[in-house]
Amino acid sequence: MASVKLEHITKRYGEVTAVDDMNLDITDGEFITLVGPSGCGKSTTMETIAGLTLPTEGTIYIGDREVTNLPPKDRGIAMVFQNIALFPHMDVYDNISFGLRLRKYDKEEIDERVDRAAETVQMQGMLDRMPSEMSGGQRQRVAIARALVRKPAVFLMDEPLANLDAKLRVHMRTELQRIHDDLETTVIYVTHDQEEAMTMSDRVAVIDGGELQQIDPPLICYNEPANLFVAGFIGSPGMNMIQGTVGQNGFDSEYFDIEFDPASVGVSRGEEVTLGVRPEDIYLLDRAEALSHASGEIEATVDVLEPMGSEILAYLMLGDSTEIDLDNPDAGGQLLVSVDPERDLETGEELQVVLDRRKVHLFDAETGEAIQHGLVESTQAEADAVSGAEAETDD
Ligand code: ADP
Repeated sequence: MASVKLEHITKRYGEVTAVDDMNLDITDGEFITLVGPSGCGKSTTMETIAGLTLPTEGTIYIGDREVTNLPPKDRGIAMVFQNIALFPHMDVYDNISFGLRLRKYDKEEIDERVDRAAETVQMQGMLDRMPSEMSGGQRQRVAIARALVRKPAVFLMDEPLANLDAKLRVHMRTELQRIHDDLETTVIYVTHDQEEAMTMSDRVAVIDGGELQQIDPPLICYNEPANLFVAGFIGSPGMNMIQGTVGQNGFDSEYFDIEFDPASVGVSRGEEVTLGVRPEDIYLLDRAEALSHASGEIEATVDVLEPMGSEILAYLMLGDSTEIDLDNPDAGGQLLVSVDPERDLETGEELQVVLDRRKVHLFDAETGEAIQHGLVESTQAEADAVSGAEAETDD
């Protein structure tokens, strides 16, 4: 077990800056996921930690040791990659023990470590199987066991589940969490899949264009995204974004207004802002009785319905919009809403929706930085605080 620290890591390939001034402080035993779109610099960051590539600038520590220029074998790390490279002519035992045999560990020690690793990945009883006799998931478990026997202080995994089918991927997510809980090893995990990042990690490091955008527990990234990039990347389907300006009484847009006191949020009149709201935080008016902090009513027309089983995704047109641009959710004039599947909706139906004001986000349209999460009217917030305090006194 060990902590990992990246200080001002930059990696340039000629003109391309793959990683740009990355700072990460990973605690001993933590499960951290580096997530972001393809080409954002996740793998390069991982490779600098592994020692497979040297950073152009910056320093890396594993535990108390500076390892910036050490070869991979001296860093106390183990890696598992997307492409599972087992030796096809060796059985599970030989595959798992290969590195230990190479390092001339004695037979008893090897047997003990292989047994323990096989048990951890639940492959006991299969030690004499050949790779060709195993499923993709089993082969990936062997690859993990082979890394485990080395008792690494830090486990690096680069898209290890990417080649598995969807069902197995979900299953292996749970397995990896269990293995992490059992071993308490530091895990640094790379994926482009935000769902994988959200479900497994203690903290998620969201990366874009080689730069760290936010590093926080999954639900903080979800509920309090630091900027428009994180807001759009984390969560599926993505957050609705509506362009507008700050008016005298709050948010003004072509399609609707949301009242709040600009001074209480620290914005001033005329500022260009983007309002963000997730599909599940928008309610049809006739289903919003229980909502304590509803926005004003917004007129909309149903354009496209996607029944998902557990919910219906309804694409609504706002104002005079006549067509939804499904490929461009930020085009304006449209809202994606998650609706209770029992509610009968029809294409072309006109209805009203309200937003849960506690779940509305405000971003600076120019810099993309978050300004405020939750736009509860100040009088309402004060009333809540008072009733909250009364409730506490009653106890
Ligand atoms: P990710 O893992 O997020 O998909 P990478 O770290 O692989 O992204 O790549 C980040 C950027 O660096 C990309 O623009 C990629 O083309 C570039 N890059 C990565 N490795 C090399 C290399 N060996 N030579 C040149 N450019 C590279």
